[in-house]
Amino acid sequence: MDGFSLSYESFDPAEEGLREALTSTGNGYLCARGAAEWEDSDDVHYAGTYVHGIYNRETTILGGVPVLNEDLVNLPNWLVLKLRIEGEDAIRLADVEPLAYRHELDIRDAVLIRELRFGDRSGRVTTLRSRRFVSMADPHQAGIEWTLIPENWSGRVEIVSAIDGRVTNSGVERYGELEGRHLDPVSPRTFGPEVVALKVMTRQSDIYVSEAARTRVYDGGEQIEADRTLYQMEDYIQQVLAFDVREGMPARVEKMVAFFTSRDRAISDTLASAGKSALLSPAFEEALALHRFAWAELWRVCDVQLPSADRVQLLLRLHIAHIVQVCSRHTAEQDAGVPARGLNGEAYRGHVFWDELFVYPFLTFRLPEVTRGLLMYRFRRLRAARAAAVEAGFRGAMFPWQSGSEGTEETQTLHLNPLSGVWEPDLSHNQRHVNAGIFYSIWRYFQATQDLPFLRDYGAEMMLEIARFWASIAHFNPARGRYEIHGVMGPDEFHEKYPSAEAGGLRNNAYTNAMVAWLCEIAAEVLSLLPANRAEALRTRLDLGDDEVKTWQDMSQRMFIPFHEDGIISQFEGYEDLEELDWDAYRARYGNIQRLDRILRAEDDDPNRYKLAKQADVVMLFLLFSETELRRLFQRLGYEYSQETARKNIAYYDRRTSHGSTLSFIAHAGVLAPIDAESSWERFLVALESDVGDVQGGTTKEGIHMGVMSGTLSLIQLAYLGSEIRDGVLHFDPRIIDRLEGLSFWMQFHRSPLQVTLEGGVLRIAAYSEGFNEPIKVSVGDEVRELSSGDRCEFALRRDAAETTVGA
Ligand code: BGC
Repeated sequence: MDGFSLSYESFDPAEEGLREALTSTGNGYLCARGAAEWEDSDDVHYAGTYVHGIYNRETTILGGVPVLNEDLVNLPNWLVLKLRIEGEDAIRLADVEPLAYRHELDIRDAVLIRELRFGDRSGRVTTLRSRRFVSMADPHQAGIEWTLIPENWSGRVEIVSAIDGRVTNSGVERYGELEGRHLDPVSPRTFGPEVVALKVMTRQSDIYVSEAARTRVYDGGEQIEADRTLYQMEDYIQQVLAFDVREGMPARVEKMVAFFTSRDRAISDTLASAGKSALLSPAFEEALALHRFAWAELWRVCDVQLPSADRVQLLLRLHIAHIVQVCSRHTAEQDAGVPARGLNGEAYRGHVFWDELFVYPFLTFRLPEVTRGLLMYRFRRLRAARAAAVEAGFRGAMFPWQSGSEGTEETQTLHLNPLSGVWEPDLSHNQRHVNAGIFYSIWRYFQATQDLPFLRDYGAEMMLEIARFWASIAHFNPARGRYEIHGVMGPDEFHEKYPSAEAGGLRNNAYTNAMVAWLCEIAAEVLSLLPANRAEALRTRLDLGDDEVKTWQDMSQRMFIPFHEDGIISQFEGYEDLEELDWDAYRARYGNIQRLDRILRAEDDDPNRYKLAKQADVVMLFLLFSETELRRLFQRLGYEYSQETARKNIAYYDRRTSHGSTLSFIAHAGVLAPIDAESSWERFLVALESDVGDVQGGTTKEGIHMGVMSGTLSLIQLAYLGSEIRDGVLHFDPRIIDRLEGLSFWMQFHRSPLQVTLEGGVLRIAAYSEGFNEPIKVSVGDEVRELSSGDRCEFALRRDAAETTVGA
């Protein structure tokens, strides 16, 4: 098709889980996996539906040890539609002869299509075409349409249309031993003859969830009366619709579904709301038209066009669609963060990690209100973050590594190693760097949008409290004359502690310390950006004295960064004493060694002993900051930063990184863009293909990787177009321009809309007059242009320069 279709032409049970995750349909309020309506969940099919923020806690007793986990809850299965022909068993793929099969995500319209032509045991040939969508126009609505063509027969069929509340969270095999029951039944109900509805509640968090479905049958355009039989239990309700079909004549079934939860706004009884909505729902085609229209509006803002590279184009669009299906304007209306694995599966239990850092750049420049809404998720959990800091003996706000409903630490203390079957201690909660990440995201959002009201009312408070936390976890080492941070982990989760140490955590993770130095400088200045009375009110409320601000300033100049070997930044203090790993031997023995931690532990060894990394750690610094920013940061700290610093460090860690998190490909692709364009593009392609090709062998079926999907889009803008905000100017430094021929996208800067195009060695920037906010400045090299509403400008790029870079 036209760069907007992900399709599979035959059924493959081994791939079905992956395809379900990749063909999920959602609208930023809810998302449902692309499971076939006619199949029950088993080890091939898994029909998960998730709504932002519906978490529930359950305890499992594991060998006598109570293990508490909070999960994003799999909600009642509304997909259920089954076909029975002439009183025979309901059709399942395993029981028929498939004559043709197609499973497609129409990316442009976010419509899931399945076409099945099959022969049954009685020699009947039937075509079944299913289309479904989760409405971007009405966040509480979804629709399924079945078209049924009896090709060589006429007879009576029954359609079972159900809402099944007997679901559990059982989509991730390694969580199999953990409690997966999160719902209690409340009640089934009908609303007139056509609507069945079910209300359930989460067992611990007491959230009501109701779904209602109106099922109708059509012959051509005419609705026909089917014989309806109702069956209901406390946690299941179904209607069977019986009607006659005639050879060669398509019959259509429409199931329009409504969803409401007690976390919605403007809600009383969720069941009544769902029932009423389903009753009043427009017909499928009409609802679909509105949904399409909403998507068309989104594509105008979010599309990234790259007509010269078909495959890249397709995957970029797939990623855009998935990001927006999880985080849309509807998400901003809710109390929702960025679940690392989307609303597409149950890995990491719907928790919110530092991955948001990779997701925001794409959203911020296109749908800034969505980033704002997602950052509000953090603000509402400031109280919990403060409590966590106090409990750990610190000040300020300490946001958790894994966040769920309330903002308390949700990282499990035990983690199952699927290679050894052993539950191992999980120390990853020591990744306090998530706090620097939140600060970073707030600041980058502000730089891109100049959203002063957000900074004034929410952002600054979080920033100050985060800086305060860092100042309290850091201590001054007089012997070095520098501030140090002990007992934390960097993004590299293979290093949790020193090899023979009892306690978790490391000393002076360079990534963390450099981030802290950077944020301390900004924190000390953020108050000056606020209106004076607000700044004063905040200072008073937080009891923020001059001394504290002075300490931050001091930290911004005297954080300790460990170095070893001729300009190599040590990932943490003592890293240089670790052993080198024989990478070739492990590659030869295991093939894929991305998850070296599991391999080493299963061998009774310990990854902490070696110079290796799961993912970019030091290297993250070169991704998050431009060279100018880093040079300034290091110089301010009194450390050398040479022209070679980036190149040397990236090469050093590249050789020692297994990329066990696909986020690492984003980081390495990004940092290599100005250094080794070919290698950068290779990593970009790996990241681009990583979910669709399931490079980690089984992780994507448990949910997409939001950070990676969004990361690929950010790479285009930030790494390859080299866009960066410098002193309020939107700067571009295009690299790899040959690969980006024809690139074109819409973006906002300081709330003024722009069209950016790269063609024939010329970068064009056009300012829209519609919705233009204020004149902005853009630049390439030293050439700065001011754009007012309706203006456009062009920069002729030095092809030779770009080519030199490409060849370097
Ligand atoms: C990565 C983390 C990431 C998490 C959630 C882990 O495998 O190491 O950096 O935050 O997955 O995506």
